[in-house]
Amino acid sequence: IKGSDNDPYPDWKPNSPVPYAALCTTLSLIEMTTKRLIILSHCSLFLRQVLRLTPNDLLPTVQLMINKLAADYSGIELGIGESLIMKAVGESTGRSLAVIKADQHEIGDLGLVAAKSRSNQPTMFKPKPLTVRGVHEGLLAIAKVQGHGSQDMKISGIKKLLSAADVTTAGKGSRGIDITKDKGGPSEAKFIVRFLEGKLRLGLAEKTVLVALAQAMVAHETMLKGKKVPSAEELTEGEAILKTVFSELPSYEVIIPEMLEHGLFKLREVCKLQPGVPLKPMLAKPTKSITEVLDRFEGKDFTCEYKYDGERAQIHYVAPESVHKFPNSMISLQKDGKRLCAIFSRNSEDLSKKYPDILAKVETWIKPGVQSFVLDCETVAWDVDNKKVLPFQQLMTRKRKDVKAEDVKVKVCVFAFDLLFFNGEATVKRTLRERRRIIHESFQSVEGEFAFAQFGNTNDLEEIQTLLDESVKASCEGLMVKMLDTEESGYEPSKRSRNWLKVKKDYLAGIGDSLDLVVLGAYFGRGKRTSVYGAFLLAAYDTNSQTFETICNIGTGFSESLLEELHKTLSPLAIDRPKPFYSHSNVPKDQPDVWFEPRLVWEVKAADLTLSPRYKAAANEFVGLTGGGKGISLRFPRYIKAREDKKPEEATTTRSVAEMYRKQESVVKESAAKGGVD
Ligand code: ATP
Repeated sequence: IKGSDNDPYPDWKPNSPVPYAALCTTLSLIEMTTKRLIILSHCSLFLRQVLRLTPNDLLPTVQLMINKLAADYSGIELGIGESLIMKAVGESTGRSLAVIKADQHEIGDLGLVAAKSRSNQPTMFKPKPLTVRGVHEGLLAIAKVQGHGSQDMKISGIKKLLSAADVTTAGKGSRGIDITKDKGGPSEAKFIVRFLEGKLRLGLAEKTVLVALAQAMVAHETMLKGKKVPSAEELTEGEAILKTVFSELPSYEVIIPEMLEHGLFKLREVCKLQPGVPLKPMLAKPTKSITEVLDRFEGKDFTCEYKYDGERAQIHYVAPESVHKFPNSMISLQKDGKRLCAIFSRNSEDLSKKYPDILAKVETWIKPGVQSFVLDCETVAWDVDNKKVLPFQQLMTRKRKDVKAEDVKVKVCVFAFDLLFFNGEATVKRTLRERRRIIHESFQSVEGEFAFAQFGNTNDLEEIQTLLDESVKASCEGLMVKMLDTEESGYEPSKRSRNWLKVKKDYLAGIGDSLDLVVLGAYFGRGKRTSVYGAFLLAAYDTNSQTFETICNIGTGFSESLLEELHKTLSPLAIDRPKPFYSHSNVPKDQPDVWFEPRLVWEVKAADLTLSPRYKAAANEFVGLTGGGKGISLRFPRYIKAREDKKPEEATTTRSVAEMYRKQESVVKESAAKGGVD
């Protein structure tokens, strides 16, 4: 607290830029604990200080805390690998690359290597201390360099930041704060490098920062009103407001300036879902059988839609005459100065350069009177001659960037299944029946280009089975069963909801759902396959501890040519040793021949789940059952396809894996009780 004995940043004066050292001290305090409430309080206290002293720096502070320079749809990414960072650390601290590599080998955490390199370095002259805004701008500049010579420019950008790092000791003058050095202390160099690596690895989830921001803002507004502390109700309400606003408009760039201007309690009125800012899509829960669906939706009206097997696409559109109504959101829609339409992926990446052919046609699907919309759709490869859907693999052969509409070989058809915004209003709170009615009334299908998702509204088991069979015949993956009326049928952005259930065609055998897993390592093949990797080590993701926990080795489902291609793709991702955030058995015989950066995500199917000491997925959840140490592993895993639309952090979570395991166990127990287990 400013002015008190505990003030850790006496140099931070009102209206002066937020010192980067102050943020690093907070990140360091966060790193020392795993307790969520303590993390939350460090985070919200810091944001309160920012609000009191330098509110204009709130946005870059939040962005550095969540390890994102800008919203996902802006397409700004650092694109920096470990070797580039090592080079920059070496050059900026006058140590050779070999020494940095040796340190990295020994310490295993490049952030700590940078901190060590920095602290050993005599400083001849003192550059100006880093500020949060300065670091954010520096990183942004590094992210934006492209083209010829960009690697060298990126290195020189990193060197510039690193050589200004740690000129002041973070936490200097602190009385009452004890920051251990084991984790490198509050070193600025360490946190810059961690940011560059794409992970602060603090257990500081983005959700936590959102809650901390709400708490800080409520406390700040209470203080401005002359009260000392906010009531519990005010805090709860503030959190609920920010969470709702953020789920409909996930962009701090838009929300924070509005919040500073109008206050948190007015935010819902000024920040609303808008075309141009993609929402995180609603997701479905897996089910194992149609009877499970009937149990869940008993007595409710529901609908069964075909589950198309392509790529999710959120299509945003504003008619030229309505553009002036959406000043904020046009950032992404107007990239080339005139485009009023964009397509976003499941991860909110802008896919407009991949699908110019779709964008060119949007206006042919809409009926007169349509001014603006956000449609939730699936793009599917389309067989023009036979007028039918093609398998997913065909879609994957399309180029991802700089596609020219006239060169497109694989045609796609868009299947629309939901509507989130229509003619100036969000529609997410309306029932699915109403949303569907608007889609059918306001759009028209165009053969092979745009269609409505097929559906049947029935609760009859046999009819559902028939729909499932027909969907499979139409090259779909199965059905999506959705609540149709009542409030429960509203669209829930970013949620994996029980109001949407997926029934895949091959659920009835196996474990209910496929898993999307991250490739962490590989083993060289035997026999014919010695020059390529023959098997791979895969992991699920623990969102709480932000670790990749291993789950299986996989060597089935790959063709020879795919193995060759994978060898080419994976070899450059090889690293000397597992990252500190990988969790796998320590036993020497369980180690893969090669470890990789966590980059590739694969969809995998398996026969069932079992507990094993060799793998670590969800091991923490099963300590009681296994005495610790054992994680869940997949039996008979089989490769299905690459999930290029998922980032490693979007892999199947260890929590879902644990849920699948528990479900499987309860099914086994139930049938054993009925005397029917085989
Ligand atoms: P996850 O594996 O995390 O669940 P996923 O991307 O594999 O995600 P699923 O939850 O298996 O997706 O299924 C939902 C996906 O199915 C949607 O993301 C969408 O891309 C696709 N889909 C196809 N048809 C529909 C439909 N009618 N309604 C909703 N989603 C559909």
